[in-house]
Amino acid sequence: MTHDATFCEGGCACGAVRYRVTSAPMIVHACHCRMCQRQTGSSNAVNALIETDRVLVLSGEIEERLVDTPSGRGQRIARCASCKVALWSNYLINNQGDHQRFLRVGTLDDPSLMPPDVHIHTATKLPWYVIAEGTQAVEVFYDQKTTWSQESLQRLKALCEKSGAPYK
Ligand SMILES: [Zn+2]
Ligand SMILES: [Zn+2]
Repeated sequence: MTHDATFCEGGCACGAVRYRVTSAPMIVHACHCRMCQRQTGSSNAVNALIETDRVLVLSGEIEERLVDTPSGRGQRIARCASCKVALWSNYLINNQGDHQRFLRVGTLDDPSLMPPDVHIHTATKLPWYVIAEGTQAVEVFYDQKTTWSQESLQRLKALCEKSGAPYK
């Protein structure tokens, strides 16, 4: 796969930050945990998991801020330095460090390109949010080996090898 291909583009609200995504993500989460609700001011977050080197910043300045996650280890949220809209984050959970991004799907120019593959933390899902029939949903988290596609697991393995994180 060539990494300068364009899968789609996105950006912040003020237009200063523009980014290009060079392939489809590995998986897309809709997270209904309380922290995602509070941090997005919404019913849930929609995050596309993708290799950091497949998200290219085309313009603008990014600033990062550490916030809490249910694991207690935190995530570093990357925002536009001007309008402060969150664009992606890195979870500090599994030593993959900066090699994997959780891209905020709503910042894509066409968010419909990355629909959720699985809804997580549905135990705190708001009662009026109805998950589409046939979409995977779990009360807390899922088993990666049975939920991710084989292709995405291969990509994750490559990412772990690159970052020195354990692949389990
Ligand atoms: Zn901005
Ligand atoms: Zn969450």
